Amino acid sequence: MKRIIYFIAAALLSVLVFSLTISCSRDSGPARETRFLLGTATTISVFDSSFPSQAISRAFDRVSEIQERMSINESEYDDTEILEVNRNAGLSPVAVSDDTALVVSEGIRWAELSSGAFDISIAPLVQLWGIGTPRERVPAPPEIEETLPLVNYRRVSVRDGNRIFLPEEGMGIDVGGIAKGYAVDEAARILREAGIQHALIDFGGDIFTIGTRVDGKPWRIGVQHPSSVRQDLLAVVEIVDLAIVSSGDYERYFEQNGIRYHHILDPATGMPSRSGLTSATVIGPDSIGADALSTAVFVMGLDDGMELIESLPGYEAIFATTNRRVYVSSGLQGRVELLASDHELADS
Ligand code: ADP
Ligand code: MG
Repeated sequence: MKRIIYFIAAALLSVLVFSLTISCSRDSGPARETRFLLGTATTISVFDSSFPSQAISRAFDRVSEIQERMSINESEYDDTEILEVNRNAGLSPVAVSDDTALVVSEGIRWAELSSGAFDISIAPLVQLWGIGTPRERVPAPPEIEETLPLVNYRRVSVRDGNRIFLPEEGMGIDVGGIAKGYAVDEAARILREAGIQHALIDFGGDIFTIGTRVDGKPWRIGVQHPSSVRQDLLAVVEIVDLAIVSSGDYERYFEQNGIRYHHILDPATGMPSRSGLTSATVIGPDSIGADALSTAVFVMGLDDGMELIESLPGYEAIFATTNRRVYVSSGLQGRVELLASDHELADS
């Protein structure tokens, strides 16, 4: 539930960000609709003066379909493809849709690229910590020790015919760090196929900008300040036709004895990652890649994370550190405007 807060610049209304109402107004401003999906507020705003009226609902229907296939929220779904895969761990492969096979395969690819900092098989650890649920707690070290061997993307197999197999009971897939990105990409594809040229997709802070603003200028997208008590912005960046996704320790967490335990776990330690970053924002051509990468580099930290970003053509990043410095990848130099007076831009 990253909330990069976007704003559409003065020309188009200086305000608005999340409107939680379901609406589709046309006369003044964009056609905008918000639904609660993927555990968050998802908003599509279309700025074209005319476009097929069904386009927005078709995009949302597609997002619902993705959610129904991949959610592991058992209070909402009795059964999904991923729940089925996890329940059959150690027993048998499970045939899944192309969607699920693609997201899991992409998850494995990003796990490889990030040397396991991003790990699609993180479910048993997520379950153990229960962060954001009523059973959240700090597990005892032996519990973490016992769980760690179950988390290993190399043990996940996706075989032909989209059959996914987890070889040991207790293993499990969690696409929480990547599925929202996939849903954004699919929504963007549907809007573009409907001929839409100017739109913003914001699924709980996973943002995709289609085209430019109507006036031909780039979108100005705000990156949320990593301090959870503040709703203001860390920085603003101008983008066109790109995805932007943030991960941070401020999204979902609980505190115990003054320590913050947040929802991005380091598969190497089994603990909430402590890499020295407070937020990692990734910009790229696709939201699925930006989503996986933002989680990955948040775990990897400044040096390794930046090295990974620099090695990947098309992807850029903005990192904020615990000592309140902001680092920007080479392709973004000079394109990020720092707004937070309590942070400084580091020359990297
Ligand atoms: P958000 O859910 O806030 O949008 P992320 O995209 O960073 O943020 O995803 C965090 C979610 O990803 C967690 O809630 C959990 O489901 C899952 N997750 C946590 N740690 C990892 C990890 N190291 N690798 C892959 N997924 C993770
Ligand atoms: Mg992510």
